[in-house]
Amino acid sequence: MKFVIVFFFVAITTSLFSQPKKPNPNKEAIIKSVEKHQQELITLSDKVWAYAETALRETKSAKELADYAEAQGFIVKRNLSGMPTAFTAEYGSGKPIIGIMGEFDALPGISQKAQPTKEPLNVGAAGHGCGHNLFGAGSLGAAVAVKELIQQGKLKGTIRFYGTPAEESVGGKIYMARDGLFADLDVCLDWHPDTEIAASTQSSQAMVDFIVEFKGKAAHAAGDPWNGRSAVDGLEAFTHGVNLLREHVRPSVRMHYAIKAGGDVPNVVPEYAKVWMWVRDSKRTIVDEVFGRVKEIAKGAGVIAGVESKVTVLSGDYEILVNKKGAEALQKNLEILGPITYTEDEIAFAKKIQEVQGGEQTGRDGKIYPLKETKEHPEGGSTDVGDISWLVPEITLIATTAPKNTAWHGWSVVACGGMSIGHKGLVIASKSLGMTMVDLFENEQLRKDIRAEFDQRKGKQVYKAYIPDGPAPVPNDVK
Ligand SMILES: [Zn+2]
Repeated sequence: MKFVIVFFFVAITTSLFSQPKKPNPNKEAIIKSVEKHQQELITLSDKVWAYAETALRETKSAKELADYAEAQGFIVKRNLSGMPTAFTAEYGSGKPIIGIMGEFDALPGISQKAQPTKEPLNVGAAGHGCGHNLFGAGSLGAAVAVKELIQQGKLKGTIRFYGTPAEESVGGKIYMARDGLFADLDVCLDWHPDTEIAASTQSSQAMVDFIVEFKGKAAHAAGDPWNGRSAVDGLEAFTHGVNLLREHVRPSVRMHYAIKAGGDVPNVVPEYAKVWMWVRDSKRTIVDEVFGRVKEIAKGAGVIAGVESKVTVLSGDYEILVNKKGAEALQKNLEILGPITYTEDEIAFAKKIQEVQGGEQTGRDGKIYPLKETKEHPEGGSTDVGDISWLVPEITLIATTAPKNTAWHGWSVVACGGMSIGHKGLVIASKSLGMTMVDLFENEQLRKDIRAEFDQRKGKQVYKAYIPDGPAPVPNDVK
């Protein structure tokens, strides 16, 4: 009996003393810094939200973030890797070098006001349907907080913010990585807007993005079709082949395509056809294998139709190499910060969106859950963060910026990203990532453990980017 009582007492005291986890002074300073700069960060995010510039055209957005970093005392390098909107902002010197990434590109055609019913801000314009306005400003807020500690001599080393364009298209990070811009990092961090908060232990899908073109010979479709060779026949044979292949790939493989050119009129044998396609899987190695078969199908389709076929890679992403040690460090900081709380108005805003979209009206999820086990196959979606995670250990946060049961890359995500629901996600991201960087600067053993896990997970697989040689395809009118 006595044993039981003692055990009970110990259990109570442990829980009493372990409940309010007090951050160390440097982490307290991070929280205070983010709160001090909070309004500026929200203004930055809101400006980028309103600019809503698409991939490789994010000139005003990138300038806004880079100018802010410069004003905060960072050394800013702009126009990197041939992309006018790629930049880095660095402060401090020597090792360790900790990186944090920020995105800022929007998605075409989903302009939306910051309100819970669908109405474009500018008809036909782009919108931040992936919340990258929050992503950029939130990461920069964490970098600024860390910079202040380095400046005060409380942390030693270098903090580097990466302004990474075009996540939604060609993957600006991959071009920056090709130029070695991530090569000297000890650890890199990022976050992404989401419908819940988590120190991410989940991967993403690897993918390859490519086009297949067919060139034939035009002829009058009724007069002398025997003199023509139809590029559309080639395209149809190709897509038919791809659809036969579906039966013989692993269930985790995804193949999707859009026909971009398929002839102009029925009475001319079409000379040219083009299909745009992505192949995805949980593993890059499988993507390579399936892509090899798709290339053979393109060749065969050309033979069938008597036309030329050509496959051109546009870009591709690796799956994220999860780092559990890094996620554990981030998780502890999320637990120190505790959940996001929402006002009645914010909950009503979220429920209205869920009602309009026909989803269950659960409101918002600001809870901090225990760390999850890594799923064998990630949920659908790819990111160029994946590539970076094969070059340097990566720690990823997801934070609530929109309600569950809403269509991602849609108007409701744009709406929430332009008001306080999104802003609260930005703030928890700045704080928790800043605090985790404090751990990384202060704790050499943590850095070693993270690196050891990275080496072990990466194994002997050699990183090779899925991007064509030459510069990123920046539109001619972007300066
Ligand atoms: Zn995104």
